[in-house]
Amino acid sequence: MRKLIYLAILFAMSLSTAFAQGRRETGPDTAPKDSVVENIIREEKNNAQVQLLAHQLFDSIGPRLVGTPQMEAARDWALAKYKSWGISAEAQNWGVWRGWERGISHIDMVSPRVRTLEATQLAWCPSTGNKTITAGLVILPDLADSAAYAAWMPSVKGRFVMISMLQPTGRPDDNLEQFGTTESVQKIKDQRTKATDNWNARIKKSGYTTRTLPVALEKAGAAGIVSSYWSAGFGVDKIFGAYTKKIPSVDIMLEDYGLLYRLVESGADPRISVHTESKERGPVPTFNVVAGIRGSEKPEEYVMLSAHFDSWDGGSGATDNGTGTLMMMEAMRILQKVYPHPKRTIMVGHWGSEEQGLNGSRAFVEDHPDTVGHLQALFNQDNGTGRVINMSGQGYLHAYEYLTRWLSKVPSDIRDSVKTSFPGTPGGGGSDFASFDAAGAPGFSLGALNWAYFNYTWHTNRDTYDKVVFDDLSKNVVLVAILAYMASEDPNRSSTEKAVLPVNPRTGEQTKWPAQVKAIRKGGFD
Ligand SMILES: [Zn+2]
Repeated sequence: MRKLIYLAILFAMSLSTAFAQGRRETGPDTAPKDSVVENIIREEKNNAQVQLLAHQLFDSIGPRLVGTPQMEAARDWALAKYKSWGISAEAQNWGVWRGWERGISHIDMVSPRVRTLEATQLAWCPSTGNKTITAGLVILPDLADSAAYAAWMPSVKGRFVMISMLQPTGRPDDNLEQFGTTESVQKIKDQRTKATDNWNARIKKSGYTTRTLPVALEKAGAAGIVSSYWSAGFGVDKIFGAYTKKIPSVDIMLEDYGLLYRLVESGADPRISVHTESKERGPVPTFNVVAGIRGSEKPEEYVMLSAHFDSWDGGSGATDNGTGTLMMMEAMRILQKVYPHPKRTIMVGHWGSEEQGLNGSRAFVEDHPDTVGHLQALFNQDNGTGRVINMSGQGYLHAYEYLTRWLSKVPSDIRDSVKTSFPGTPGGGGSDFASFDAAGAPGFSLGALNWAYFNYTWHTNRDTYDKVVFDDLSKNVVLVAILAYMASEDPNRSSTEKAVLPVNPRTGEQTKWPAQVKAIRKGGFD
């Protein structure tokens, strides 16, 4: 009885703090020790494998673009790891993708002086074979309308076309704000806004989009497409995919792109030479890697760890989503070691082709309705290397009850910085938990501290091993392993009753639960 009252008070307290501040400050741990929890913490403290795994996956295998041999090597590596840990794992094919392999790309300015440029080919860039293309450059001009652009088009023949604006500064905002006068900071920001608006207007007036313009320029005989997608930090660009089929598409870093742009504008007529090698591999299977520790009491109910396995390939995919991947792998390794007979089956999904639209997880949801229908909880992490600082009920009305209870077993130094919000809203996209929420299954996102993720590592050339914060990653491993353990042990199935979603103040309409979206099963060919 006393215990019940005590629990009720604790519960009410945690609720009120959760609602009042969205933060759970619970002070020193008074709960009785739990040996599984203790062993999880001890194993990660004394025997962490994440640095070794990170070196193998990020440095040796490299980025994991869908359809590349590296994605396949990562699959084989993960399957071997799980096998070595005594965990059964399999690759589940769910579609086909355009197979491509990145080769060398080398881009130099050869006139009016020689400079090797910091540049790289975009994903799926066509190969120049054993040729190096040397040509002058032309900047997308500011013309009146699509007819004027159509008349200009033939002049691109034999030239590289620069399709990105000139950034007025390569200094990130925090650097400007630290050293600049208020007036000069404002002036630079105004210049940038004006230049951005002007550039967007050019593309619009041309009658094309950023997607269709390179294709039109290719048709008009351009030698190649040169772009620069600055990510608003020092030395950092986002590297996405090429749209051209025959001519190279390369990204040149802000500093070198600006150099070329100014030389073209001043009439110095710079020339660059571009050499890109790559291999088309035809259609290749695309897959998820799924592993599991079979439940001993309720094997047909599932707790799932979740993180996408694929990445863009400008860097090594270290924080997007290498760290999420390793967090879940390491948690599985530890769970198998210290909790080998879970009540419910504990699974992990390493999804393919998240970057092209949550395709791997959407396919899993479509192909495994039984698992999804018996999901106790899914925990996904996919926003960088930082320690988890927020968790939402994702729109499930009673999620506060079980999530706060599961969290209560997490050591306070990890738990106290996790801000919870209930009932929250269901994931509409963004990462793979949304695929499960859309099907009404309880998929939760573990939101990380940002560590300048959006500017510096997300989809950039700098998403590399050195950006990983291993202390934070280890905390996340402990957190998710304990959550999985608690979800597995819970005497009750978690409620998936949906909250009434709020009225959107902008439209005055009731927010609707997101609808399931079909996976793209054949991708990269258009
Ligand atoms: Zn991601």
